Amino acid sequence: MDFRATPDQQHIQDAIEKVCAPFDADYWLRKDREGGFPFDFHKALADAGWLGIAMPEEYGGAGLGISEAALMMHTISASGAGLSGASAVHMNIFGLHPVVVFGTAEQKKRWLPPLIEGKDRACFGVTEPNSGLNTLKLKTRAVRQGDDYVVHGQKVWISTAQVANKILLLARTKNAEECKGTEGLSLFYTDLDRATIEVREIEKLGRKCVDSNQVFIDGLRIPVEDRVGEEGEGFSYILHGLNPERILIASEAIGLGRAALKRAAGYANEREVFGRPIGQNQGIQHPLAKSWMELEAAHLMVQKAAWLYDQGLPCGAEANSAKFLGAEAGYHACENAIFTHGGMGYAKEYHVERYLRESWIPRLAPVSPQLILCFIAEKVLGLPKSY
Ligand SMILES: Cc1cc2nc3c(=O)[nH]c(=O)nc-3n(C[C@H](O)[C@H](O)[C@H](O)COP(=O)(O)OP(=O)(O)OC[C@H]3O[C@@H](n4cnc5c(N)ncnc54)[C@H](O)[C@@H]3O)c2cc1C
Repeated sequence: MDFRATPDQQHIQDAIEKVCAPFDADYWLRKDREGGFPFDFHKALADAGWLGIAMPEEYGGAGLGISEAALMMHTISASGAGLSGASAVHMNIFGLHPVVVFGTAEQKKRWLPPLIEGKDRACFGVTEPNSGLNTLKLKTRAVRQGDDYVVHGQKVWISTAQVANKILLLARTKNAEECKGTEGLSLFYTDLDRATIEVREIEKLGRKCVDSNQVFIDGLRIPVEDRVGEEGEGFSYILHGLNPERILIASEAIGLGRAALKRAAGYANEREVFGRPIGQNQGIQHPLAKSWMELEAAHLMVQKAAWLYDQGLPCGAEANSAKFLGAEAGYHACENAIFTHGGMGYAKEYHVERYLRESWIPRLAPVSPQLILCFIAEKVLGLPKSY
């Protein structure tokens, strides 16, 4: 087993650090205060060709795996961009994976190049107010009328819907009572038509510059050629993208935790109280050392899950564990960074309070820690399903 970064991995990290460098802590602090999508950051990554890191080469992507994509997202987050930076491009990286796997050649030719070039921005419309984590019970209805589907319904928490021109939408095409197993939902990738879709921003704890929204759909017409794969199979297609998404978000959380730890160690070395640096006290050292270990351990789980995925091997338990461990480690590192800064941890100019607010996102989404524990108990330990 060789844990060293390969020359390619080192190149990815160096190149992403270079793109991120001009977007410094003050840039992200300003974005956090004022909001407004970080278009210039998104463009810098698109122009340098990174948005297609995991997309097929024949459509303009780099054709690399989830291991490389995870490294990219980790590097963005660890640069201090945190979830503000990572979420600005997250959907580009693996969100359209169901299209890559199940889309036709014509669809991929039509949809992937503009996404990779940064001309299209996509959002992901799954969560609904009345079904929550029980995705199979979602209610947004798509009814076939000739060569179109007509959609009515409501989504919630849809990130980037303020700035997206495309939506990957999961909607019901068969009544829930008539469905067995995972059938009855269909997947569409289509224009976010603002004449029939109303997008209302949700005021939230952090990541102000990457919006999340309530979405009201009233008579959206989707041409049949914008349906991905077979009617009724949408849920199984979405499942294909879930493990890579968990791996990416885990990487982002770990990157954020490392950014916090770096700031904490820097401050602990500089700040003197009682005639010596506060970092000389074990009460300051130990939580930071523990966070370092937690982040390292979570990162190993990310690498294992990503490796399994890239080999085409099952990775559900590992991807979920990586997401759980990464999110918790990231959160605790941010919390410890605030304690290390004392009162200044609460001041915006030291940045760690922003990190803590952002570290909640990978804990809550796209799946909760409780549901991951339920999944591991059932699938790995063989206990009865509890949800
Ligand atoms: C910042 C942010 C961005 C997001 N972006 C998107 C996006 O772009 N697209 C999108 O589709 N969604 C998005 N989401 C939604 C996110 O995926 C959901 O919030 C998440 O899946 C949880 O669903 P819910 O909020 O409806 O929780 P609920 O399903 O209402 O659950 C509430 C709580 O109850 C617990 N719970 C429920 N059932 C059980 C059970 N059987 N056992 C134990 N505990 C249980 C859950 O763990 C959770 O803690 C985003 C959310 C956030 C916060």
